Amino acid sequence: MKAIAVYEGESEPALIDLPKPDPEAGEALVRTLRVGVDGTDHEVISGGHGGYPADTDHMVLGHEAVGVVEDANGTDLSAGDIVVPTVRRRPNGSNAYFERGEPDMAPDGQYHERGIVGAHGFMAEYFTSPAESLVPISPDLAEHGFLVEPISITEKAVEHADASRSAFEWTPESALVLGNGSLGLITLAMFEQRFERTYCLGRRERPDPTIDIIESLGSTYVNSNETPVPEIPDTHEAPDLIYESTGYAKHPFESIEALAPNGVLAALGIPGDWEFEIEGGKLHRELVLHNKAIVGSVNSNVGHFEAAAETLASLSASFLDDLVTGIYGLDDYEDAFVDDDSTIKNAIQFSEYEKRR
Ligand code: NAP
Ligand code: BGC
Ligand code: ZN
Repeated sequence: MKAIAVYEGESEPALIDLPKPDPEAGEALVRTLRVGVDGTDHEVISGGHGGYPADTDHMVLGHEAVGVVEDANGTDLSAGDIVVPTVRRRPNGSNAYFERGEPDMAPDGQYHERGIVGAHGFMAEYFTSPAESLVPISPDLAEHGFLVEPISITEKAVEHADASRSAFEWTPESALVLGNGSLGLITLAMFEQRFERTYCLGRRERPDPTIDIIESLGSTYVNSNETPVPEIPDTHEAPDLIYESTGYAKHPFESIEALAPNGVLAALGIPGDWEFEIEGGKLHRELVLHNKAIVGSVNSNVGHFEAAAETLASLSASFLDDLVTGIYGLDDYEDAFVDDDSTIKNAIQFSEYEKRR
């Protein structure tokens, strides 16, 4: 079968041949439909994030997949089910996080992430997975099922941000998303359903397709070249919730002051090392005197995937059309990894879904 992998020391993915996998006990065999590409994949390819599986010089890419069960192999799934795999897997042996169904809370070393760190990903014509890590979704969602994983990331982050504000009467009205990449725009579409006013910050000038999406959602675009984060409260308003999805390491610190009193920042970006000065005393004081919270959030669990499938069903067809800028076959898979101002969310199609009658 064909698969897309990155080799150690190489900066471009390659199309390779692998044997079709055999499911072990408790695993199902899945025929891959589509796999999405996100900023993390680019960081994995460039060597900035993640790591290879043990004893190999390459890793099959991809962590945002949707597929159809080909062989349920005695699990509770049925052949023909449309499933989305979660990303984290037990490393060598289990641990309490996996036993509790909270692998997303496991610290480094206590998990592998398929296609990111320590385990091959889903960019192959077939993959196997423990059935417990395959989330069934409605066949109606098969086409866009590769978006369930990124949506689940925001389901988790928002659950944790809300939990941090649950001890008092918090009535947020406004939210600011930092970053107009695929994660930021998906999150903005989700926030449009909940908040009265939303803003999305990027560094692009008009015309730009992401700004068109932001405005078509009814949100306000903030150009960081004109209005950097510290100026947002005066120019627009101090948001109740800030969702950082730029990976720009100054943003979380700038957000502490920009937040409204009692507000919360969810930090999602994964920056490289960068030393810079901050006004520590001022930020510390601001956090304390205005009851603010910062929540870091990574990955997501089965519950977040289930919530994400419902959210996907609620997103408008026109938003999804604008967001998904390319679906590429194996013949032109390289195009799926092009990262320029015209690409927002690309996916690779490994096989077609034909609805059973
Ligand atoms: P992406 O497509 O690279 O999006 C990042 C966006 O942020 C880009 O649109 C970029 O603008 C914008 N940006 C970067 N620096 C900026 C700055 N200084 N000012 C204004 N805008 C800026 O990546 P993604 O897939 O959406 O993911 C976003 C981040 O979240 C990445 O760091 C990724 O690793 C991380 N992530 C984390 C999790 C998690 O579980 N915590 C899950 C998924 C992704 P341009 O396009 O104009 O350069
Ligand atoms: C993935 C998460 C993963 C994170 C850190 C993200 O792009 O969507 O599942 O935990 O990267 O590796
Ligand atoms: Zn991702």
